Amino acid sequence: MTMAIQQEITKARLLGLLILITLVLLLLQYYGPQKTLVLGVDAGVRIETIDDRGNGGSSIAHLTRDGERFILDCDIVASSYAWPYCEISFILTDDVTRRGIDLSTFTEVELHIHYSQPQDFGIRFQLVNFNPAYAKPGDSNSQKYNAIELYDTHIRYPQLIELSHMQVPTWWLSQGKIPPDYWGPEFDDVRGVQIATGERVTPGKYQMIIEHVEFRGKYISDHQLLLVLVSIWTALGLIYFVNTFRKAKLELQNNQQRQVQLESLNKLLNQEQQKLEERLARDPLTGVLNREGLAPVFQQLNSDGTQALLSLIFIDIDHFKRINDQYGHNVGDQALLVFAQSLSANTRNHDLLARWGGEEFVLACPDTNIENALGLAEKLRRCIEETEWPKGLKVTASFGVAQQMEGESPTDFIGRADKALYVAKAQGRNCVRSSQQPPAQLIAVK
Ligand code: GH3
Ligand code: MG
Ligand code: MG
Repeated sequence: MTMAIQQEITKARLLGLLILITLVLLLLQYYGPQKTLVLGVDAGVRIETIDDRGNGGSSIAHLTRDGERFILDCDIVASSYAWPYCEISFILTDDVTRRGIDLSTFTEVELHIHYSQPQDFGIRFQLVNFNPAYAKPGDSNSQKYNAIELYDTHIRYPQLIELSHMQVPTWWLSQGKIPPDYWGPEFDDVRGVQIATGERVTPGKYQMIIEHVEFRGKYISDHQLLLVLVSIWTALGLIYFVNTFRKAKLELQNNQQRQVQLESLNKLLNQEQQKLEERLARDPLTGVLNREGLAPVFQQLNSDGTQALLSLIFIDIDHFKRINDQYGHNVGDQALLVFAQSLSANTRNHDLLARWGGEEFVLACPDTNIENALGLAEKLRRCIEETEWPKGLKVTASFGVAQQMEGESPTDFIGRADKALYVAKAQGRNCVRSSQQPPAQLIAVK
């Protein structure tokens, strides 16, 4: 298994794990355990009983404790005060310098309260929140009332209230001239929980049996959870994107580099191959072409597909054996080299000189007819004769010349040139003979 596949598997596993964690967190958020806050007789907070006598009214509230519950007896009396009431208040913090309770992550509250008749009984449930933006320490009326009013026909046991359904009463907003930024409910610094008789209560005796009030909420708010999850996914997505992009770029660079390397290697191989081919086509002693190197010249055709004009001069050093015998093989080799060099030096660039074997050479002359080839052969013959040879040697050569005929095979053509050379040898050497004339009537050009 390659590294890349292993990495992909690890990545897929991490992704799977992350999806699982997200799912578990979402399920826990909606179906998992909730945090609770219970206010009852054992809450350990101060309880206040309030009625409208402080506002100039005559109603009387009286609180007693009966085991695990409070009993609020209320005598609502009509008076000059327009809104008679009785109230029980849980004071969450007595010290104005200390914060109350943060209920902002709580979503609902359940009231375990029994009510007695008469008719038209209603209750007001209020959470009093402190915020220095509008509240003054010590002035309880300046704190924000988050309230909800329930009427007898709607009151259940237990009564569930969604905190999002609570509202800030308009009388409080107008009384404090509260700016719009603070018009909504707030639960982050709740200093008091109040349960009071309803606004439209009529004179008479009432009783409220308060068992407890239970707030329920999530450990973190939906909003916070969503923010955390989105942040994690976005961060991981970004890391993945940057990483993938960087890797792809690196791979592209590597590929390009590899391609450049391959191209230069290819070029080098081509050059080497060309050199090798050239070496194979050349005679190592003299540096001129060998038989294989000369082969392409016989395949050249005119543009109309007919045989291209070509003449061959077969050249053989006269009595070369004697040089070897007299001066040794090394001097013979040297003479072969000088011979090839002087032939090359006296021919045109497009003429091709090849060593046919031993001390025998072939000069292929493209675009050259027999007359010109004979002229060239004679020029070369004379040149060899006049060359200064090492050790004062006297070297001559014989020449056989032929022009390729239409449709003639290279073998037949070479054979004719070779025959002309044979005639030159037979007729005394150091001469040029043409294959065009019948051997008996061959005329020396010399
Ligand atoms: P002719 O005039 O009839 O051509 O006589 P010749 O002696 O030149 O002909 P022959 O074919 O009898 O001898 C050719 C000699 O060339 C024989 C051989 O030793 C010699 N030879 C062939 N190849 C080489 C070579 O590479 N180096 C040397 N030093 N001698 C070579
Ligand atoms: Mg010879
Ligand atoms: Mg020979």
